[in-house]
Formats: sequence, C-alpha cells, structure tokens
Amino acid sequence: MQKGHKAGGRLPAGKQMLSETKLPLGGQMSLESGQEAGQLRKNQEFTLAIEDLNEDGAGVGRLDGYIWFVKDAVIGDVVRARAMKMKKNYGFARLMEVLTPSPDRTEPPCPAARPCGGCQLQAMRYEAQLRFKERKIINNLVRIGGFKEEELPMLPIIGMEHPWRYRNKAQFPFGRDKDGNIIAGFYAGRSHRIVPCEDCLLGVEENRRVLEIIKDFMNRYQISTYDEESHTGLVRHALIRKGFKTGQLMVCLIINGRSLPHSDVLAKRLRDVEGMTSISLSINQERTNVIMGKEIVNLWGPGYIEDFIGGVRYQISPLSFYQVNPVQTEKLYGEALAYAGLTGDEIVWDLYCGIGTISLFLAQKARKVYGVEIVPQAIEDARRNASINGIENAEFFVGKAEEVLPREFARTGERADVIVVDPPRKGCDSVCLETILKMEPKRVVYVSCDSATLARDLRVLRDGGYEVTKVRGVDQFAQGIHCEVCVKLERSRNKIF
Ligand code: SAH
Repeated sequence: MQKGHKAGGRLPAGKQMLSETKLPLGGQMSLESGQEAGQLRKNQEFTLAIEDLNEDGAGVGRLDGYIWFVKDAVIGDVVRARAMKMKKNYGFARLMEVLTPSPDRTEPPCPAARPCGGCQLQAMRYEAQLRFKERKIINNLVRIGGFKEEELPMLPIIGMEHPWRYRNKAQFPFGRDKDGNIIAGFYAGRSHRIVPCEDCLLGVEENRRVLEIIKDFMNRYQISTYDEESHTGLVRHALIRKGFKTGQLMVCLIINGRSLPHSDVLAKRLRDVEGMTSISLSINQERTNVIMGKEIVNLWGPGYIEDFIGGVRYQISPLSFYQVNPVQTEKLYGEALAYAGLTGDEIVWDLYCGIGTISLFLAQKARKVYGVEIVPQAIEDARRNASINGIENAEFFVGKAEEVLPREFARTGERADVIVVDPPRKGCDSVCLETILKMEPKRVVYVSCDSATLARDLRVLRDGGYEVTKVRGVDQFAQGIHCEVCVKLERSRNKIF
C-alpha cells in the first residue's frame, strides 16, 4: 500500500518513513573510512543527520542513498552511529553519541527510557511530538488519500495537558535480579528480560506503593516468582488499574497456580492504599505470553472498579477492556459527538463499538444507536454499561461490521443518519465501506488509530460522494508514536444519489 522511499527502494513493512520529510541529497555526509555508501562494515562508525522517524519511532537518516535506522535518535539530531545490521537498501545502526542535538531534543525523564522502549518519543519535547504526529497525519492523507494539503480541513491537534501519568492501567511482570532479589518492571524492547522499573512515568503514582507491598509480602512468605523458561514459580504479573474520576484502585495478581498462600494478608495490606476497591487473583497456568488467565478469584471487594467517561458510568473488571487514557478518550469521543451533529432524532450506527463507549456517548443525543463489535465479551460489557446507565435506545450486535451492517440493512431497509466507525489499525473492510455508501448517511464520523489506513478508506468514501469537512488529531499516547484522528465526512450536496 505504501510506497518505499524513492531513493531507498522498497522498504519492508514497518520501516516506511512516517512524515516523509525531504531527506538531504546523497553525498552531503562523508564516510569516515572513505568507503562507498551502503558498504560500511559491521561495527563501523559514521556520522548521520536524522531527518525522519519510522513507524517504530527510530530515527531515519540517509547516507548517499542508503537508509539507516537509528533507535533513540530524534529528528534534527546529528549523531555518531555504529553499523549493526545491513540489508540491500537499508541498515540498522546503534546510537553512540549525539554530536549536535536537535532543538527538539530533551533529556528523557525516565531512567528506563532506552532499555524499556515503550516510549519511543521520550527524547523529543512534547510540542515537537505533537507537530510530528500532525505532520504524519497530513502526509498520509496527501500521499495515500490523494488529498491536497491546502484543501485539508485540519483543526489543530488536541494534545494532553499533562503528558505524563496518563495511563490508568499497568501490568508489571515479576522476576529476580542476578542476586535473587524480587524485581518488577517491564520487558526490555523485543525481549523477555525484565528491566526493573516500578514507577513508569506514564502510570499512576500508586503503582509503586502497590508493588512494594506485593514484594514485601512475597519476601516475607517466600513466595516464588514465575520463570518463563522453566514454567515454574508462582507470581507472574500484577495488573493495576485506577478509575481517574472515582479514584478507585484495582489490583489483580496473575499466578501460575490455583491459589496464593496467605492471600488474606496481602489483601489486608493492599487495603491500606488509598482508593483500594478491588483485589483479585487471575489463574494463568498456561505456558503462554498472554498475561491474563481466564479465571478470576475475587479476594476482596465487588470484583470491579468504576469510572466515568463523559458522564457515562463504567464497571471495569480485571478482564474488561477499557480505554487506557480516559481523559483524552473523552476529548476524542467528544469531538466525534460534535461531528455527528445529533439533534435527538437520528438513527446512528457505531461500527467497531468495543464496550460501547462511543455508542453510549451518542445515545444520549440520538433517537437510536446500533453498535457492532466482533468480540462477544465486549458486547456483554456494552449491554451492561447501557443498563447501569439506564440507556434504553442502544442496541448491540455481535459480529463483523462488514457482515452485520449489510445484513441488517437488507433486512430492514432502514437508512442511517450518521455512521461512526472506530476500526482497529487495519481500517475498515471494503464491504463495510460499500455498505456505508449504500446506506447514504448524511454524515460519517471516522475515528482512526492509524492515519495510513484512514487515508486509504477516506479515498473510498470521497469517491463514493462524501466530502471530508473536518480532520483533527487527538493525542492519546504522549511519549509514544501513535496518534488518534477524528474525521467528519458529509454527503456532498452536488452529488446525485
Ligand atoms: N470505540 C470502541 C473501541 C474501538 S477499538 C470502544 O469504545 O470500546 C476497535 C474495535 O473493533 C475492537 O473492539 C475490536 O475488537 C473490534 N473489531 C475488530 N475487527 C472488527 C470487525 N471486523 N467488525 C467489528 N468489530 C471489529
């Protein structure tokens, strides 16, 4: 779908550049050894200007037509890099030294930023992150969607007021350091080695206290940590969730066993943490890297915590899906609601509806909302969420959007006034898009987590008679590479249907 960069030939999936800033013409940078470009030996060092970032957040630079990916480098840096792995048209190099820092570079506040790899953009100032994300959206719409940049109805990206400690959910694996001490932290990028880090700066401050209590308890009662290789030991992970609006906290300990010795003591100690509402175990005895087991054993509390998004109340159990950044989710779905332009009389479809967050948001202002989602448990949650909020005009279907929508349209012949889609990264299925066009809604609201597939799908909708009238980025993942986009489409007046 995406074209490789002109000079570098075709790049593998995931290696395409995001913002397609112009790279300097070849020959500007001289090789230290005087060798030909692209023929550096492994471990050889060279100077490189970083001009872009790829999909993984690695810096991208070009040396005489050959493309280098340098993790942890920032756009605008000039770096000394060491050649690590070379392919025909591109190679990977390690950042050795920042020779001239980019004006956008900042000191990453998290000591685990480099080994953890979860925050690809931490070395970039937040303002620059936002500009980068906005540029990426525009470039994809122009390059893949065929839109003209000057005609794009872009609204300024909605950034975060507080780009730290915004995640309401964290999952920490437990293990041992080389001295046998219990550690909790994160897996190092692309590996299963645990980097100790009990205070991820994207997570809530309570995480550290909770982990300390669990570690003390394990030391006191000599409870073992799980070892992936030998599939032995008991404690695998701790899941910690917080309701940002309610202050309620949940802890769920994932164990490789049927029970946890002295679990009553642990529960009692955890209850000292302010906001503690739900304490449970998840049984996961499988040899798998799926974190949660399917069975939950409740130790204390109602088995769920509660939170609100836009006035709608949610019950969140250890296994339920819930948006990890509820503050920005509310802004994003608020934007979607505004674009939907509801007066109270509309028939609305919310495709890829998950636990119904958008559906329930819209139901308060529409005549009827139909939600479609492929995961049955998510629909169970959606129905329960509708019921605990007394929302009676939302109806949910389990199934694929591309199957349920055409089936229901054929069965009832009922047109929609507004269709909202919030698909996964791969975007909408073509049958789904075709059906939307056949149903001729006045407005389509497209919420996207991948502007490349968004651009592809917008092209189909535009060719089918819809005009893009608003585009707005909403950042849900500060320090990370992803960004959400909300788009409003309106049926063109001059098109005859
Ligand atoms: N708005 C949702 C989140 C959407 S995320 C919420 O508030 O919860 C995208 C959702 O699309 C996921 O829940 C995923 O399970 C679902 N999905 C993926 N493919 C689908 C398909 N073909 N049809 C319907 N739903 C699908």
